Amino acid sequence: MTSAAGHAPDGAGGAGAADRGVERADVVIVGAGAAGLMTAASIRCDSPARILLLDGARTLGAKILVAGGGRCNVTHHAVDERAYAGSTRPAIRKVLRRFGVEETIAFFAERGVTLKREETGKLFPTTDEARTVLDALLAAVHEVGAEIRHPCRVERVEPIEHANGGGPSFRVRGPWGEVESRYVVLATGGMALPKSGSDGAGYGFARRFGHSVTEAVFPALVPLLLPEGHPLRGLSGLTFDAELRLVGPTGKVLERFTNSTLCTHFGLSGPSVLDISRYWTAERRVDSGVRLELACLPGVVRERCHEELVGAGGVSLLAHLRGRIPERLIRVVADAAGVDPTVSLRQVPKVQRQRLAHLLTGWPLEPTGDRGFTHAEVTAGGVPLAELRLETMESRVRPGLFLVGEICDVDGRIGGFNFQWAWASGFVAGRAITERLDLGASG
Ligand SMILES: Cc1cc2nc3c(=O)[nH]c(=O)nc-3n(C[C@H](O)[C@H](O)[C@H](O)COP(=O)(O)OP(=O)(O)OC[C@H]3O[C@@H](n4cnc5c(N)ncnc54)[C@H](O)[C@@H]3O)c2cc1C
Repeated sequence: MTSAAGHAPDGAGGAGAADRGVERADVVIVGAGAAGLMTAASIRCDSPARILLLDGARTLGAKILVAGGGRCNVTHHAVDERAYAGSTRPAIRKVLRRFGVEETIAFFAERGVTLKREETGKLFPTTDEARTVLDALLAAVHEVGAEIRHPCRVERVEPIEHANGGGPSFRVRGPWGEVESRYVVLATGGMALPKSGSDGAGYGFARRFGHSVTEAVFPALVPLLLPEGHPLRGLSGLTFDAELRLVGPTGKVLERFTNSTLCTHFGLSGPSVLDISRYWTAERRVDSGVRLELACLPGVVRERCHEELVGAGGVSLLAHLRGRIPERLIRVVADAAGVDPTVSLRQVPKVQRQRLAHLLTGWPLEPTGDRGFTHAEVTAGGVPLAELRLETMESRVRPGLFLVGEICDVDGRIGGFNFQWAWASGFVAGRAITERLDLGASG
């Protein structure tokens, strides 16, 4: 199936290629997800150019459509590099500042999609429909005369070497045929939600050109599994505000996220857990002795909590914590501390009061793993930004090759940060390709 526009005359065409039944393009973008679509939409050259997006998926923009519970959290009102991990923060900043939140808002507004800011700082379309976001991107791609083909899975991306320079530099192949192109953009995403079409194939393409991929590529923004029989699993469906923190062997807090936390039949989910998951996995992989703690009373230190329990006097634990923690959770914490939550706290022995304070302010958790790429929102790891020219997103090892979006070693927190990375990196590549095409036309 072919979506979107027809295209400009084949500026890169050549009878030889046509004779061999090989198509020609100026730009082939592999992957028509958020980053690939934004790359195409940002190519605005004066000369006619053939821009082709190839995507293996039957449904275009599947991730955009499911994002934010079907409402698509397009960006966040305050984006900066501190919301990201993976490559170095200065490198991430360099790309983000080229296309910030204001530019994202303007881009969508120009295409009839107004964004609204919610209390959490997340920006959604006022329609509350992800479809409007995807339609705006498809319209923008149409505007520039690019063509989208799908399902059209790419199996190989190869260099073409010319003895005397000139001619297309890349051959892109799949069961559907072959295209030769001057520029190739790898916008194949990572490995999260593989049924959407992103299964990590892009890493192989990048390696083929001499790029490296981080040693660890693992699910991020992913729910965590607790051992069978863990008391928190019994609270399935319960949501409460909590702090999740990673604590080093010396007691130093390495990362902390306070947000809504959800107990499920397999373990824990919700924004606080999703946000900490990539840091926990990264530490666990190297067996660094770091532990994960859950504080049901965020912001209250253990000593203060203990003093409060002592000061509560004749009141029961249930009465003392009512309104601060859901009753079902109080009962589970009390049970784990061996305390009857209905008796006066005065009757609770000191050692158990201390245990209560310990669990309420830093319940040590030992997740057995995570729910994997099928349930992850993003991928940690990928092609290091150090291997790209960040003014253009062009490969340092293969001129003419560009990498954008989640294939790069960049992953953001919950809140619209991952799409903002896709928009920014796609924009930077699109503008750089525009300059090349214009230069080629005038030169
Ligand atoms: C359930 C879920 C909800 C999310 N919600 C949000 C949110 O609300 N806000 C936010 O900021 N982020 C969200 N994210 C993360 C966000 O969707 C991604 O970070 C973003 O889509 C990455 O864009 P991308 O274009 O780099 O990759 P992708 O969106 O993964 O697109 C890659 C495209 O490449 C195609 N492709 C891959 N390999 C090939 C091949 N060999 N040949 C042809 N095509 C290929 C795929 O079919 C796919 O269409 C969510 C993710 C998930 C899974």
